[in-house]
Amino acid sequence: MNAELSPSQPRRLLPGRWPAPCDVPAFHSQNYMLCNPEPSGILVSMPSASAGHRRQSYDAHVKRLLSCTKCPEMKGKPVHGCVRRSRIISLGQAPGIHEERFGKPFAYTAGKTLFKWLSSIGVQEEDFRKKVNMSAVCRCFPGKASNGDRKPSRPEVENCMEYLEFEMLYHKPTLVIPIGKLAIDQLLERASMQAAYSNARFVQENASPGPPLYREKSKDGLPVLLNSKGRATYKLDQVIGRLFRSRWLGIEFDWIAFPHPSGLNVWNHTDAGKACIQAALRLLAHHPAMQRSLDMHSPVH
Ligand code: SF4
Repeated sequence: MNAELSPSQPRRLLPGRWPAPCDVPAFHSQNYMLCNPEPSGILVSMPSASAGHRRQSYDAHVKRLLSCTKCPEMKGKPVHGCVRRSRIISLGQAPGIHEERFGKPFAYTAGKTLFKWLSSIGVQEEDFRKKVNMSAVCRCFPGKASNGDRKPSRPEVENCMEYLEFEMLYHKPTLVIPIGKLAIDQLLERASMQAAYSNARFVQENASPGPPLYREKSKDGLPVLLNSKGRATYKLDQVIGRLFRSRWLGIEFDWIAFPHPSGLNVWNHTDAGKACIQAALRLLAHHPAMQRSLDMHSPVH
């Protein structure tokens, strides 16, 4: 391990196991979390860290990500959209065939649709790329399948999860924007749901929450979007256009999901799909993290 990054109180977490919320301390700018350079687990470290230490841990993360070869079936090299400072993480599925050439996620046709959606609420692509940490469930192009890009396998998702974990712990996001079903599934399956709302007023500071959704459908008032094995099972219109609050790795954050903006996603062009995407954009436009972080050039709806 890099001596400069040696944590004062390292704790190894077994692969595939998550820290209980109480195991992870509240984040302060002086604290930071480190990704273990060894592939077998994560070291969570909590010394007081200078800006220099934070920068080094971030740089080491990006370097390690870019040199990763853990998944033999992946066809492309890793692509990342990491930024050093952000309280917002977008979470895509995996890069397409063109992203490696451009060296950034959502660089081709799906990206055009995504940024067209975002520009409708005044968010410019360049600003989004500078201010939002653009993560993905898998960072390499998986190759083609008969009906589009191959869906990454569960082992590949697990292999790549350490990078997302690092970025969650490093950035402590207040808002996560999953884009596509594979990304939404990760939040539903890995994070514990705290609340779910359809009311944009909820995200306004000092506004009282609107009524939780799905109250009538579950005994604890939270959505039932998992099957008995804990796997995500839902229809897109149960998730897109809602605001969820979840807790994962000790971090509580809001999330607002979008469907995959691929041209192959016919749901996006249905009346129901269009209405849900508009609702999600309204929630995003009103979210305090977006309003604080991004230059919203045009009035939000
Ligand atoms: S998908 Fe992720 S874990 Fe697999 S090789 Fe690419 S960067 Fe590494």
